[in-house]
Amino acid sequence: MTENIILKSPAQIAKMREAGRIVAQALKLVGELAAPGISTLELDRAVEDLIIAAGGIPTFKDYPASTPGVPAFPASICASVNEQVVHGIPDTRQLREGDIISIDVGVHLGGWCADAARTFPIGKIGRKAARLLEVTERALFQGISFAKPGMRLRDVSAAVQREVEAAGMSVVRQFVGHGIGRDMHEAPQIPNYVCGPGEKLDGAFPDCVLAAGMVLAIEPMVNLGGFEVLTDKGNGWTVYTRDRAWSAHFEHTVALTPNGPQILTEL
Ligand code: MG
Repeated sequence: MTENIILKSPAQIAKMREAGRIVAQALKLVGELAAPGISTLELDRAVEDLIIAAGGIPTFKDYPASTPGVPAFPASICASVNEQVVHGIPDTRQLREGDIISIDVGVHLGGWCADAARTFPIGKIGRKAARLLEVTERALFQGISFAKPGMRLRDVSAAVQREVEAAGMSVVRQFVGHGIGRDMHEAPQIPNYVCGPGEKLDGAFPDCVLAAGMVLAIEPMVNLGGFEVLTDKGNGWTVYTRDRAWSAHFEHTVALTPNGPQILTEL
């Protein structure tokens, strides 16, 4: 099931790298600003200004909802605090000492897209929260280490799951990573878990052999409690954990090259 995966040439990957550099700069800026007292809306404005000044387009702004009747996403970042998992809408809520905030950013530049996320500590955070951030980032890099030509997609998924579950945490199942290119969401879908052998990762997601030229947005969402999540009925976007335990999210856009994985969303 690789026929609908769009391969990118080295020249196209180089263009995605330029978009990825802006994403990385945006996340670096968030890291500098994320402190007690700042609002998620202020973070959104700062990132949007940076993207536009760099000549990019914020991919998330006005991104259509998959649920009919839900308005398009209104901001340039997703800002998800504590028990919020993904798709948090920036607002005037001020961050407090001890919070964690997951920031997801997508940028289009010259027709090509890059996407990354990172969870930031606000001031001094608790020990469990700190471990959640460490485990989630480590799981991302474990997944990336298998993103090589000749490996299978399920190797990436299994590596993420192994790292998370060995730490006694759970991976979100309702949201998955994705191929990326001209569009933010392309084939394949990349779950952060596997179940069942063979050609299906879990019955819903087709497995495939990885090839040079694939570009994947690998993005573990990890919960301190159970894996179940719910979507806010009021705004139709914000996803939070069912048990309200805290959640973290780390993501990179990664190009598969003959020499191994190349992360496009770091400086
Ligand atoms: Mg993504």
